[in-house]
This record gives sequence, structure tokens and C-alpha cells, in this order.
Amino acid sequence: DYDIQIQVKSHDEIGNLAHAFNEMAKSIHLEEERKKEFLENVAHELRTPLSYVKGYTQAILDGVVKNEEEEQKYLQLISREAFRLQRLVGDLMDLSKLDSDQFTLNKTPIAYAQFIEDVLAKYEPILKEKQLGLQLELDPDPIILGDEGRIEQILHNVFDNAVKYTNPDGFIKITLRQHKGDCELIVTDTGNGIPAADLPYVMNRFYRVNKARSRFDGGSGLGLSIVKKLVELQNGKIEIESREHTGTKVSIVLPTIKEDWTS
Ligand code: ADP
Repeated sequence: DYDIQIQVKSHDEIGNLAHAFNEMAKSIHLEEERKKEFLENVAHELRTPLSYVKGYTQAILDGVVKNEEEEQKYLQLISREAFRLQRLVGDLMDLSKLDSDQFTLNKTPIAYAQFIEDVLAKYEPILKEKQLGLQLELDPDPIILGDEGRIEQILHNVFDNAVKYTNPDGFIKITLRQHKGDCELIVTDTGNGIPAADLPYVMNRFYRVNKARSRFDGGSGLGLSIVKKLVELQNGKIEIESREHTGTKVSIVLPTIKEDWTS
């Protein structure tokens, strides 16, 4: 327990040892608290969609549903919640892997600009549907050494957020610039932004600014915490700037390799 603290006032070796012990006891206590909080969050996130699935299913079984159209509506809601559960479990598995030392990256050289464009191609329908403008300014030069699947995951999470938190008729701009030894990807949106008080926490596990809205959009609050870990594992850096009601800017810097990597 955290209460186990040794009271020593001396400044000799024993005193130092006691101090070290006290610090250790404190950090073990904090670790336990974090674990407990994490498990509580997991339980909560699982319980909400499960209770919806249970409720809608029961309604159908009880014959509360009047016609086929209504039944379709209920089935769609069940399917939505099942999808959310699947995503959540996937994210949790990822986090667990990322926390263990067994996590391995399969790194290959990637022509980053082309890779980004390929990922973005999948967003065409949703951009159209939400009437969002997209501006690309991609330097074709940067070659990064990364795990393709993981780089794609990073991009998906960041692009998803930009699309999700930007209102119809908004605008998303994506730039890629080569610097000396690294490159910077910047994703700016004209969305609802993040309040200054929340900004320091958005990359924490389960942190969401607006729980109700984010839940509706399918978010679990795990996306950015996974992105941060993945970026750091590939020796990169991520920074987020934002202003409420104005927009958000996400910057991801990754090391590059020389273009003539084949020679
Ligand atoms: P979620 O799955 O809820 O989107 P994330 O970890 O990806 O979780 O993001 C955490 C929170 O940060 C989100 O719930 C949202 O409140 C905020 N956020 C992230 N990206 C943006 C953005 N581009 N614009 C506004 N808010 C954002």
C-alpha cells in the first residue's frame, strides 16, 4: 500500500535507501491505480454497446417491433453496436501488444506521398457525402522506413478524426514536406477543434472531449493513444495544436532515408 512509507530523517546511506524505497512504493501505488482505472474504462466501454445489443434484441424477441421496416432499424442498431465492440476489442489488442516487448515492426522503405494518396483514395465517398474540401500538397521525395500496416493505421486514425470532427462544407488540408533527415506530415481541418483545457489529454487512453458525440461517431478514445505509440516506435514525433470552433492541426514527423536506398 501507498501508506507503507519509511520514516527516516537521516541523510546518510540508510536515509537515501529509505528515500528510494518510498519513491518506489509511491510509483507502484500509481501503477496499480492506473491499472484499476484502465480496467474500469474497459468495462465501461464494453458494457454500453452490450446493453444496447441486449436491449434491441430483447425488443425484437418480445414482439415490440411492429413491422419489417422497424425490425430493419433495430437490426441496424445492433449491427452498429457489434461493429463498435469489434473495433474496441481490436484497439485493446493493439494496445496490449504495444505495451509488451513482443511488438515487432516489419519495416520496409515506403514512398510516403504515394502511400498517403493511396490511403486517401478510400476517403473519397465520405468526403463527398460530407461535402468536405480536400487540399493536398505532397512533396514526392520523402522515403520513410516503416511498417506499412502500422503507417496506414496512423494515417487512418488521423484522417478519420479530421473527417469525423469537421462539419459539412468544412475543409481538410494535408501537406507533406521533406526536411533534412526527416519529413513532416501536417493534417489541418476546419472542424470544431479541441478546447485548450482538453488538449493536453487527447492522446491519453480513453480520453474524449465530448463523450456523447464521440460515442455516436464510433470513437472509443483509444485512437490517438495508439497513434502516439506507433509514431514513437518508428522514431517519430506527434504534436497537436487546436483551437475550439476553428480547427485542429496534427503534425507527424518521421525520419526519412536517402532516396537512393537501393544502391
Ligand atoms: P476517438 O476514437 O474518440 O476519436 P481519439 O483518441 O482518436 O478518440 O481522439 C481523442 C479525442 O480527441 C476525440 O474524442 C476528440 O474529442 C478529440 N479529437 C481528435 N482529433 C480531433 C480533431 N481533428 N478535431 C477535433 N477533435 C479531435
